[in-house]
Amino acid sequence: MKTFHIITLGCQANLADSQKIAGTLEKYGLQNTEDERSADVLIFNTCSVRQKAEDRVFGLNKKFRELKARRKKMKIVLAGCMLHYSQDELERRLPGIDIILKNTDTKKLPRLLGLKNYGHRMSIVKPAYTNSESALVPITYGCNNFCSYCIVPFSRGREISRPVKDIINEVKSAVKRGQKEVWLLGQNVNSYKSEGTNFPKLLRLVNAIPGDFWIRFTSPHPKDFSEEMIKAMAECKKFPHYINLPAQAGNNDILKKMNRPYTVDHYKNIIKKIRAAMPDIAISTDIIVGFPGETRKQFLDTARLMSEVKFDMAYLSEYSPRSKTLAAEKYKDNVPHAEKEKRKNELNEILKKTSLEFNKKLVGQIVTVLNGRTEHNKPIRLDKGYPKNTFVKAEVTQANVWSFKGKAIE
Ligand code: SF4
Repeated sequence: MKTFHIITLGCQANLADSQKIAGTLEKYGLQNTEDERSADVLIFNTCSVRQKAEDRVFGLNKKFRELKARRKKMKIVLAGCMLHYSQDELERRLPGIDIILKNTDTKKLPRLLGLKNYGHRMSIVKPAYTNSESALVPITYGCNNFCSYCIVPFSRGREISRPVKDIINEVKSAVKRGQKEVWLLGQNVNSYKSEGTNFPKLLRLVNAIPGDFWIRFTSPHPKDFSEEMIKAMAECKKFPHYINLPAQAGNNDILKKMNRPYTVDHYKNIIKKIRAAMPDIAISTDIIVGFPGETRKQFLDTARLMSEVKFDMAYLSEYSPRSKTLAAEKYKDNVPHAEKEKRKNELNEILKKTSLEFNKKLVGQIVTVLNGRTEHNKPIRLDKGYPKNTFVKAEVTQANVWSFKGKAIE
């Protein structure tokens, strides 16, 4: 039996694509191996969100040569977001690559590899390969927003919403095979629309699927956050109270340059409404520091937003120009690296305080834990081990900045 190995870089959307690639190869009789050197097919599912991630892949040429020298028939596949480069450029810079696979072309991979379809002869229909404890269910692919710093609309194309039926069936099979956490994924998850079903309606439909499981989703866009959505989140019992709502900046002029069509007040207003409907909710955000032209004063507006909102977690990143994007073409990346780092550290100090404040409130309270995380999506270390995919009730005994300690009670 032939084997494959997948190296996934980047976000959950890429992880979901890797699961799809793996499921397709398994149907053709290939087996997943943990050892990349012994694989017959090696797949690199790439990320383009930062230059560093791309440089890592472009730096792999030597490794490809070594792997192929050891295993002459090995096929190397490049998939994921780096496909925004032209095929010529990829072939020139990564000559060791055999196949370039668009994320919409997963089904073509067996043919490109010359595999014979003996899937119909296989007696086992086993769960799709997964290196995640959660079921990752894409509900949309691509993005239409063209935030001026972001490569996604170029690498993943325009937004397509998947049919409701397919999503529901996928969640049902995940629940059937015992997965207790389902992530609905989309670059702009709450702009989902298919056959008259919008995101809040979809959330309610998924919530109505029988079974004991959590529904999480990422990433919502503030511009598509409606009252209907907040109501659905509050009423869906399977939605654990945690949400990531990217703000990206706390200054209106920077938001405008980022092509993020909302204001800081609009953002704060959504947070207010979410907290009014779900007072115990944990909220995280994404922030980019050092966007071209960001002055100290504009940065301090972001710092103020963070102090006011009191996020429980934030994914802080330094602006990194991506070719083809409006920001890279139009603006000069003029905030020095050291200043970006300084700004990121300043935000991190604010975050540490607000996160600890939130966490401390939970000491002595009972939380639900799944695979080492609470409903607020925070890591917790329990006094004893539990099998994966089991809900455990636990008392929080200690709060740290980023995590908890707890005692299982059920
Ligand atoms: S919403 Fe903006 S940041 Fe998110 S994927 Fe789309 S273009 Fe990129």
